[in-house]
Amino acid sequence: MTRNGADEFLVLILGCPASLAKSRIADAIPTVVASPMDIDGEVVYATVSVGVARYPTDASELDALVSAAQVAVRRAKEHGRNQTRHFLPAANSHAGQRRRMGELVREAIAASTLEVVYQPKLTVESGRFLSVEALVRLRDTENRSMSPGVFLPVAAELGLMRELDALVFRKAIDQLVVWRAAGLGDVSVAVNVSHASFWGPNLVSSLLDGVEKAGLPAGLLELEMTETIVMSDPEPAREILTRLREAGFRIALDDFGTGQTSLGNLRRLPFDTLKIDRSFVTGLPDDDADVTIAKAIVAIGRGLGVSIVAEGVETRAQADLLGALGCDQLQGYHFARPMAADRVFAVLRRRAESVMLEETP
Ligand code: C2E
Ligand code: CA
Ligand code: CA
Repeated sequence: MTRNGADEFLVLILGCPASLAKSRIADAIPTVVASPMDIDGEVVYATVSVGVARYPTDASELDALVSAAQVAVRRAKEHGRNQTRHFLPAANSHAGQRRRMGELVREAIAASTLEVVYQPKLTVESGRFLSVEALVRLRDTENRSMSPGVFLPVAAELGLMRELDALVFRKAIDQLVVWRAAGLGDVSVAVNVSHASFWGPNLVSSLLDGVEKAGLPAGLLELEMTETIVMSDPEPAREILTRLREAGFRIALDDFGTGQTSLGNLRRLPFDTLKIDRSFVTGLPDDDADVTIAKAIVAIGRGLGVSIVAEGVETRAQADLLGALGCDQLQGYHFARPMAADRVFAVLRRRAESVMLEETP
């Protein structure tokens, strides 16, 4: 490891299989850095943004490899810091590929062919799946589903996020209408709100217009925005959140714990739900620091009287611990992956009948 700037470090890992680079090593660095440190008797927590580039896939020269890692780390910071991002040649270096991806997004918005998948969230108390999160997907020219991590940065750069969010919102509402007509009366849907949508004009009126036209109560829609989006300007954000809540929408603070929220600001913000970021769930139940952080976030949520969702729950042990700590809802691959609407329907219906917290096969 070497220091590459005031607060920038380079870690070179030799002989690392691609599969490890993708998962374990990239996750290990934030986990180690997140361990509390004792400095002169005071406990200090640090966070780190990680950018991963691989030789020779991403670059074959040392300089280019370091640049690729820096591009990746910049994306990690853009996504709210304390994150890991891998170098994406398609989304970053080649202007041509980037342009093509931009065209794909633009076309998919214009033709309404952007796909929306839904990930069920388990309500701990009832052991039922009563809500889902809508997540956008885009198909590439070979009809493979691309992850938002790849195309959202391009969409954001092209100024398409408001249109994209609006389309996802519309599709989620239409889906909710279909589910309700089929007898799933109590299901609610969470949609993600980008920085551009949150701070753009007419947010409240256009969302309200959408639910009114569909004849749905706004309370069935939860709007998820990261604390970074909200905290970029807390006072006006508070006004927007207040208006959204007055309109009946529920508000969730997404990726909680990764931003710079002061507790003072948090207390003054109107919201209904805290979503504990996946980075604090990954190390559970063995990592003592993560257990401490998860407990602290639950305590904060309880104190504020909001509902607490843990995301990225991948194992039974994590689910058991988070349930025992007092999380109200659990979301993650352990229970269900994001899936097409017709498959979610079966999950929601099955769960509505069998009231049990059991492992999804
Ligand atoms: P997010 O809002 O934090 O969404 C949760 C992400 O975690 C999703 O990734 C989901 O597939 C993934 N996930 C869920 N459970 C697990 C798990 O157990 N393990 C792991 N490793 N991952 C899990 P996805 O769908 O790739 O979305 C990534 C991000 O893109 C989202 O993060 C959200 O910030 C953004 N996004 C997705 N759809 C939309 C959208 O319609 N509008 C906007 N503005 N942003 C969106
Ligand atoms: Ca979310
Ligand atoms: Ca999240």
